[in-house]
Amino acid sequence: MYDYDLLVVGSANADLVIGVERRPGAGETVLGSDLALHPGGKGANQAVAAARLGARTGLLARVGDDAHGRLLLDSQRAAGVDTAGVLVGGAPTGVALITVDPSGDNSIVVSPGANGRLTPADVHAASALLAASRVVSAQLEIPLETVVEVVRSLPSGTRFVLNPSPPRELPEEVLAACDPLIVNEHEARVVLGADVGDTPEQWAQALLALGPRSVVVTLGEEGALVADSLGTARVPSVKVNAVDTTGAGDSFTAALAWRLGAGESLADSAAYAARVGAVAVTREGAQASFPTAEEVAAL
Ligand code: ATP
Repeated sequence: MYDYDLLVVGSANADLVIGVERRPGAGETVLGSDLALHPGGKGANQAVAAARLGARTGLLARVGDDAHGRLLLDSQRAAGVDTAGVLVGGAPTGVALITVDPSGDNSIVVSPGANGRLTPADVHAASALLAASRVVSAQLEIPLETVVEVVRSLPSGTRFVLNPSPPRELPEEVLAACDPLIVNEHEARVVLGADVGDTPEQWAQALLALGPRSVVVTLGEEGALVADSLGTARVPSVKVNAVDTTGAGDSFTAALAWRLGAGESLADSAAYAARVGAVAVTREGAQASFPTAEEVAAL
């Protein structure tokens, strides 16, 4: 019996967003809009997305002992995430300073803060949480050695899902644990570290050759592609009026991980995740845009 359908190991950030007419050059000051403050970070986003769908979800993360940390804990709890695994202190909460210009282009500076202090020892100390989880998911906004420790600590029978974002080349033992590795085009190219062609089918085959048991390539409005030893299949997207794609990938990954843990096939899980991502892009924001299971069913 598992306590969690999904345990997310990852980052929690405060997103500080200011609209600007244009970005300042070196030594220059510009005035911007009122500050908007949102809970974010890929780990926190995934946990909220899964919990909102109805998954029993836990988060293993680190925030600072500060107002941003409390904001993140509050948003997790409001979504129904169990925060027993959220450690507090050691550094300020991670922050993303985001400026958005009138064309919608972002410039972002991230201070990892407490995310960078989530250590292998923290994972080791949380082994009971890992053992209580049907599926564990991670991203790369925490130290790679911490993700390596997650992989080493996985109980047999617990499935591991990785979205390597921000992307980098990955050690073999991490790649071999992924079931699936979930990438967009940019992440696929960086993880591969070599030009292997221009189609998602080619990226997926080349990624499978690196060791993951399965691979999912997300393709934005084109949907996704799933690949494993049984073959490769396209997953169509749902046609929607997209207004903000922020967090689409996080909601897709969370939904996919949850459905896989419930015993659905990779293709069926990805089809469900594509519906979740499609709802998320019809609304502004990241966590604020994630749907409930009823909203996905109504799509
Ligand atoms: P991000 O980094 O912006 O969160 P990503 O690049 O990791 O996203 P995407 O491929 O953009 O991931 O989106 C994830 C999934 O969400 C897609 O595979 C697709 O199913 C769905 N999706 C994204 N954009 C759209 C869209 N415009 N219309 C319909 N579905 C979409």
